[in-house]
Amino acid sequence: MSGARTSRPKEQIRFIATIVLLGPPGAGKGTQAKRIAERYHIPRISLGDLLRHIAAGNADPGRQIKEFIARGELVPDHVVFEVIAQRLRHTDCSRGFVMDGFPRTRTQACWLDSFLERDFPASSRGRHAVPIVILIQVDPDHLLLRLAGRRVCPSCGRTYNIYLQPPRAREVCDLDGSKLTRRDDDREEVVRARLVSYELETRPVAEYYRRKGQLFTVDGNLPVDQVTGQIVGVIEKRVKFIEDFDVAR
Ligand code: AMP
Repeated sequence: MSGARTSRPKEQIRFIATIVLLGPPGAGKGTQAKRIAERYHIPRISLGDLLRHIAAGNADPGRQIKEFIARGELVPDHVVFEVIAQRLRHTDCSRGFVMDGFPRTRTQACWLDSFLERDFPASSRGRHAVPIVILIQVDPDHLLLRLAGRRVCPSCGRTYNIYLQPPRAREVCDLDGSKLTRRDDDREEVVRARLVSYELETRPVAEYYRRKGQLFTVDGNLPVDQVTGQIVGVIEKRVKFIEDFDVAR
């Protein structure tokens, strides 16, 4: 039996993992989620992006969502559950996914647990059921600087920071020359509302996963590459466990 375990070629062992990135606004969840998605060829699911996409339409749900986002408030659960459930049912999620911006409340975390256990189509062997949850911790002073300086290219989606990671030409995307824009909810008063909402609603989510032994913390004050290195370290330690589990079956 142990011979079978060691002789199995590594490339036959499929990487399957559900990864959740937690952290305050400005912690770098989006940047890190993109890097992790590329590295493991799994989709990045950003609830904020999905909601902004719906909000861009003029139909009814979009208009209401837009108002919540503009105030820096959380969009109601019945809306976000529908959006997330639809997205996770796409076949591209069958090998796992990396999620940022969800769950943001304890209720959402409980909902995600039951969705992954009961309703997630690709979870027939239950391996998606236990997400690897990574909290990106950042000092509060850093957060304000990051959010106030954040600019986004409206064409290619690349993000910059005018203080910390400026484009070569002022307010212009290095890649395609588009004029950079600022997210409406990065204005200072909205940023403060988002940080308050994080403290009240999202911190308990970290505590929820910590109690279940699923929470890992990385230092988001470090340079981007080092944060990625820490996240990869956490995932690969954990995925090795999943591989061993698979091979032993
Ligand atoms: P983000 O891009 O993750 O900073 O999210 C932008 C905005 O989308 C938030 O300020 C909320 O209005 C909304 N949003 C994102 N994620 C959630 C969530 N899990 N629950 C409710 N609203 C959310």
